[in-house]
Amino acid sequence: MLTIEQIPVLSDNYVHLLHDTTTGATAAMDPAVAEAVLEVLKARGWTLTHVLNTHHHWDHTGGNEALKRATGAIVVGAAADADRLPGLDVGVREGDTFALGACTARILAVPGHTRGHIAFWFADAAALFPGDTLFSLGCGRLFEGTPEQMWDSLQRLRRLPDSTKVYCAHEYTLANAKFARTVDPDNPALQRRLAEVERLRQTRRPTLPALLGEEKAANPFLRADSQIMQNTLGLTDPVQVFAEIRRRKDFF
Ligand code: ZN
Ligand code: FE
Repeated sequence: MLTIEQIPVLSDNYVHLLHDTTTGATAAMDPAVAEAVLEVLKARGWTLTHVLNTHHHWDHTGGNEALKRATGAIVVGAAADADRLPGLDVGVREGDTFALGACTARILAVPGHTRGHIAFWFADAAALFPGDTLFSLGCGRLFEGTPEQMWDSLQRLRRLPDSTKVYCAHEYTLANAKFARTVDPDNPALQRRLAEVERLRQTRRPTLPALLGEEKAANPFLRADSQIMQNTLGLTDPVQVFAEIRRRKDFF
């Protein structure tokens, strides 16, 4: 059994602690900072065995070195980014598996936000950690990739089961929702999600994890090949539709 604890840090990041109840193995996913993670570990009585990184940005790796020093944890991230993941011990690539005790994740290469970006998918736990590739009602900015790459990456994530819980790395959902309704104004699934998100954020509650099945229906970046989005934007090629949505979001 995989227990997942969400730790809010910085202005809008989430670090996740993953704890395998069978073996006690525990991982910190994308630790922006170390202090808050060490506090939760202590409160739970867990020993950190791994640090996992979806990509190299500082707000996902800033705690790597300090956590490694404090706990001896093994740092796991993309082999392709070995030169820029602080303290990397084990490089993984597309198709590899990662074992957190008795819980297994599949590594999915999802370039676009960065070249080496990966996602961790724990199929048995129905949990996806997409880093900055997929947000609820949004997706990451294209810092190092093309619209084609990102659209491919998002389609790969979209193929996972509807019941998958998506543990995004940022609480961006409300701002994403406000943008989403400008490009997909008549989508009832989006309107439902927006209402839910507004209600949650009124009391500063997290909007995550998101349910992938709901994202498939409501997230405009996962709908670039829908007839409705194509008609609304007056474009037919899904890559062009995706690129146009991303461009508008960049200036929203
Ligand atoms: Zn990032
Ligand atoms: Fe980030």
